[in-house]
Amino acid sequence: MNIEHLHGVGEKTLEVLYKNGIYTILDLVNYYPYRYEILKPDILDPSFNDMTVTINAVVASEVKISFIRKNFNALRFYVLSNGERLNVTIYNRGFLKRNLTLGKEIILTGKYQALKHSFVASQIKFGVLREMSILPVYHSLNGLKKGNISNIIKSALDSYEGYSLLPLLESKYNLISKKEALHGIHFPKCQEDVSKASRTLIYEELFDFMFKIEYLKSLKDNVKGIKKNVSFSDILKFINKLPFKLTSDQLKGVEDCFNDLVSSKKMNRLLLGDVGSGKTIVSLIIMYANYLAGFQGAFLAPTEILATQHYNSFVSLLESEGIHIKLILGSMTKREKDSIYKKVLNGEVDILIGTHAILNDKLHFKNLGFVVTDEQHRFGVSQRELLSEKNYQPDMLFMSATPIPRTYALTIYGDMDTSMIKQKPSGRKDVITSVKKESELKTVLLHVLDELKSNHQVYVVAPMIDEDEESDLQNVNILKNKFDEAFHGLVPIGVLHGKLKKKEKEMVMDDFKNGKTKILISTTVIEVGVDVRDATLMIIFNAERFGLATLHQLRGRVGRSDLQSYCYLICNSDIPRLKVLENSNDGFYISSKDFEFRGEGDLFGKRQSGDMTFKIANLKRDYDILLQVKDDAKKFVLEHEYLKYEKYKEIVNKIDFTN
Ligand code: ADP
Ligand code: MG
Repeated sequence: MNIEHLHGVGEKTLEVLYKNGIYTILDLVNYYPYRYEILKPDILDPSFNDMTVTINAVVASEVKISFIRKNFNALRFYVLSNGERLNVTIYNRGFLKRNLTLGKEIILTGKYQALKHSFVASQIKFGVLREMSILPVYHSLNGLKKGNISNIIKSALDSYEGYSLLPLLESKYNLISKKEALHGIHFPKCQEDVSKASRTLIYEELFDFMFKIEYLKSLKDNVKGIKKNVSFSDILKFINKLPFKLTSDQLKGVEDCFNDLVSSKKMNRLLLGDVGSGKTIVSLIIMYANYLAGFQGAFLAPTEILATQHYNSFVSLLESEGIHIKLILGSMTKREKDSIYKKVLNGEVDILIGTHAILNDKLHFKNLGFVVTDEQHRFGVSQRELLSEKNYQPDMLFMSATPIPRTYALTIYGDMDTSMIKQKPSGRKDVITSVKKESELKTVLLHVLDELKSNHQVYVVAPMIDEDEESDLQNVNILKNKFDEAFHGLVPIGVLHGKLKKKEKEMVMDDFKNGKTKILISTTVIEVGVDVRDATLMIIFNAERFGLATLHQLRGRVGRSDLQSYCYLICNSDIPRLKVLENSNDGFYISSKDFEFRGEGDLFGKRQSGDMTFKIANLKRDYDILLQVKDDAKKFVLEHEYLKYEKYKEIVNKIDFTN
């Protein structure tokens, strides 16, 4: 149902709601308070003289209005509060006069003057503040008065039908109906109401989430893939030609994927591995196997820089095998893209590497057999399903450097088979990390000089581009000047940030890769996974601005060869969590710590697609519930129970058509 007919929603309010992504009754009733205020009425006492208090009172006289000047009026009247007669003044509430009738119960907040028995109110509410009142507090919707949010939600809730939760959940976990729960969350009478309501809403939200995953999994288990014909000995021959020896985890990953490839079941595999663990080569080897079996492959990367880098490594290892590889980027001209589409369609391209541009409707493969998605966490479920929607059932491999701890990842990605790379390539050393204050920059710069002398390269990361008046964050341009000054302009320095044009970015990146520039100062636009093997030192300014997992990913740009690498985290205050990075190079451990330190925050951040953000559940706090409902959801799917419920049929429809 639409919200435009709701009581109290005029054109202006409607506009505000739309702007905030609220279109339906459901959106409104799902707009939960983010905290509650507990209010108690004060009982007047002379010791409160001159203090701000909140009291229950009853209007005890006529209300007089005086107009002091234009747009400025005062209401004056008497009230009784706990037996005391008070003379009340409130400014600019002329519009309340009508409602302040004799005997009306009101709640007054304001300054009490005990000797004069007077009260200058700053706020009047109608009603009685009970011994303990609990008031929801909402994130403000820009342009709406806070009080109005409650009113609008009230009328939304009145016209919202609600439903019983699944009997499966309701009785098993002792939950309440949806309507009751929504009432409890928006208009609680006591804290107990809130906890009962939120428990129900959390269970439902997590169940719905797991339902989707289990449903997807059930589909995939039934999906026939293309059984590919290729021999492992040919793959081993290729592996032996590689410039390095695979770690045993990498080899295991190759085997897992290979088995999927030659089986008649469709591959749906997640390859998890810390930054620098060498996931790319695993996907490249399977790409090769897929080619030998006679199929085209696609490789989806989250950014142009990464796509280009992968393209280069694929070309260097596979072109000599006679394989045709093409790169497609969103920033290419229509002509360039059209020409690639044509070549892909008629089979002149064996492997296509690119960004989202690969997901274009116009792109059709001749016989797509295998799709790799790199840095899977950057794509949503929707995108990861897209390529397989196009009428073919290619094998799918997803790679991720796990921004979340393993247990959580396994639950969330529960619809996939998983391979894990835990070891680093041999000879790799941990990145030696230390936290420094800006006043200690000199020692850091001396270290930079040492590395430069050994012909190594240095990354410098800063959180922002331009000078920000309100903060003293380091930014790339200031840093460039500082470094030029420190090295007397003798060291070639590149600067990279999001505002550069694509061509400019590429040039800066190429110069650094080729060693033309020795120091690269950048915002975080250089992505996880960028591979410059001679880079051995990284300095991250304003380290406190980044989460642990992000810092670890950033740090992963150094330590990509057998050279000893270093990372300095510059931070002027004492931030305990940064110590975690000094002490560990283990991505899994770090992500679990990150999780702890982040607490209640939104685990996945805003960048994630809709299906990863929760309205009320919190993966960390509610992990036990997630595990509980996982089994329920699985049964619900396997026994086709969901077909009995409109709501879940709808969810399924949405998975099929919009994801
Ligand atoms: P990530 O898992 O972060 O994507 P990459 O696949 O980019 O890591 O690999 C990081 C670097 O390690 C690359 O330069 C790659 O060529 C190299 N590498 C991968 N596997 C090995 C190995 N077994 N021995 C030595 N170097 C390797
Ligand atoms: Mg990578």
